[in-house]
Amino acid sequence: MSENPSLRETERDVALNGPLESVSLSGLGTGPALIVLGAVHGNENCGPNAIRRAMAACRSGELLIRRGDVTFVPVANPKAYLQQTREGDRNLNRDLREKPAPVDYEDRIGNRLCALLRRHDVLLDVHSFRSEGEPFVFFGPENNQGTLEAFRHAEAEGALAACLGTGIAIHGWLENYARLLAARARIGLPAVAISEGYGTTEYIRFSGGYGVTLECGSHDDPASTEVGYAAIVNTLAHLGLTDGPRPERRPQTVIHVVDIIVCEAEGDRLEGSWRTGDAVAAGALIARRANGEPVTAPCPGYIIFPHAAAKPGEGICHFGVASARRI
Ligand SMILES: [Zn+2]
Repeated sequence: MSENPSLRETERDVALNGPLESVSLSGLGTGPALIVLGAVHGNENCGPNAIRRAMAACRSGELLIRRGDVTFVPVANPKAYLQQTREGDRNLNRDLREKPAPVDYEDRIGNRLCALLRRHDVLLDVHSFRSEGEPFVFFGPENNQGTLEAFRHAEAEGALAACLGTGIAIHGWLENYARLLAARARIGLPAVAISEGYGTTEYIRFSGGYGVTLECGSHDDPASTEVGYAAIVNTLAHLGLTDGPRPERRPQTVIHVVDIIVCEAEGDRLEGSWRTGDAVAAGALIARRANGEPVTAPCPGYIIFPHAAAKPGEGICHFGVASARRI
């Protein structure tokens, strides 16, 4: 089909200028409103694949929605998905908020996405990652009334995170993003507000709900679609939208990300072939500065999102420690 230039042009026009597709099913009984997002990053195909499979299962009755509402957004970023790139014009999962005067593609999509998120109570955002490693879930802060991310659904969010089927749960994203921004300022990159670190889960917490980011494993791992689909099935059962036994809470390795090693100059690089979730001993060599200076683990911990090709201003990897939180 795609050899035909006019069809290819139409496909492109739909992706760049077409609507944001969402499909909602309303159960006949009352229950919470769940939204499931895929392809917030366009090269993470496990989300669209898992969500389309779940949509078909809902229509066939294999997954019968009896209560509440579920909205599926298989492709949250159609431009990036068409291109099979992480971003269209920019990262949709940053600085996500309503913008009355949108300036780029993600601003326009973000306005529609924020409106959708506001209408829902719970978010499952399905992603995959560049490096190798076990699937894991990002969840949010403890209940608090602070200025960074006020929140009151920590218990419900933790319970959701623990039943998706993964065994690693990570928190501390926004505080760590502030560390990244501080490092960028140190090397003279333009200052940006902390709202840069706000993505889909931060937005739904802001609008009164809760949500988690599921990282289904490596982009290219076909198993990532299975991880995503199992998590959707578990979420529907956990929230009572479908019947059947509630999924068990898996024991979690809970990791608090407490630092980010930032590439501050050309030549700063990762040392070794780390995978996301790898445990490291105190003193282990993680990275090396361009001048040869080693960067070592300050205490026992974990490597998250190692990025061998990080450029100045990007994270070489996040560093986490065993968390005192239990979910
Ligand atoms: Zn992603």
